[in-house]
Amino acid sequence: MTTPQRQTRTDAAIDVIELHKHFGDNEVLKGIDFHVDNGQVVCVIGPSGSGKSTLLRCVNLLEQPTSGRIFIEGDEITDPDVDVNAIRSRIGMVFQQFNLFPHLTVLRNLTIAQQRVKKRGKDEAVEIARRNLAKVGLSEKEGAYPAHLSGGQQQRAAMARALSMDPDMMMFDEPTSALDPELVGDVLGVMKDLASEGMTMMVVTHEMGFAREVGDKVVFMDDGVIVEEGDPREVLGNPQHERTQAFLSKVL
Ligand code: ADP
Ligand code: MG
Repeated sequence: MTTPQRQTRTDAAIDVIELHKHFGDNEVLKGIDFHVDNGQVVCVIGPSGSGKSTLLRCVNLLEQPTSGRIFIEGDEITDPDVDVNAIRSRIGMVFQQFNLFPHLTVLRNLTIAQQRVKKRGKDEAVEIARRNLAKVGLSEKEGAYPAHLSGGQQQRAAMARALSMDPDMMMFDEPTSALDPELVGDVLGVMKDLASEGMTMMVVTHEMGFAREVGDKVVFMDDGVIVEEGDPREVLGNPQHERTQAFLSKVL
């Protein structure tokens, strides 16, 4: 293909150009083009199966795109010659399932990758872990095992673990979808704090209140395309496209 492609925005945190992703014959992303500026909170919404998780996973190359280009802080992660792990380490990931090691304490869950990947000494790793546990309100749980924490506490521990790796940006894939309703608020509260500190964030979520209040931009996806994007108050309050209207009428 020789389709001319637009120039990358070298100053953006994330820049996605003409991204396509097939699983076999199934085209799941059909030409996604969007960017996230530094310090911006972009919320991605859309029905189940629309490609939100695949998009997130392509951005840090957990999925290999079929075509298209992705730049992280001006560096092309889709360049075959690039050190993918070095670029990926700038992005903290938080998933719906918390993926904590069940056989390790909370503190050890936070120090293990710091020591192995960041090559930090134990004392430094512990100090950084404790700072981040305090930030998510879990200082008193550092010696607990994941099974003894509530889902909300486990998710906050997973966030503290990601933050302990000093990411430049954070990506969240439905971080509150597995939680009992009364535990959602604490997790969203920590995310809101992060946003107000200026963290660049890309958040797949069904929490429209969060998107409206914290999001700088909302992106609505359906069937592998971005149907509509813009100011959360505009997109959520006055959607222009019939598909956006239909989706929002079900979730609002
Ligand atoms: P969403 O997160 O919006 O619910 P996904 O990105 O998980 O959507 O999935 C989009 C589509 O891609 C779905 O049809 C799903 O079945 C398909 N899909 C996702 N991951 C895979 C995979 N590893 N192999 C095959 N199909 C996949
Ligand atoms: Mg998903």
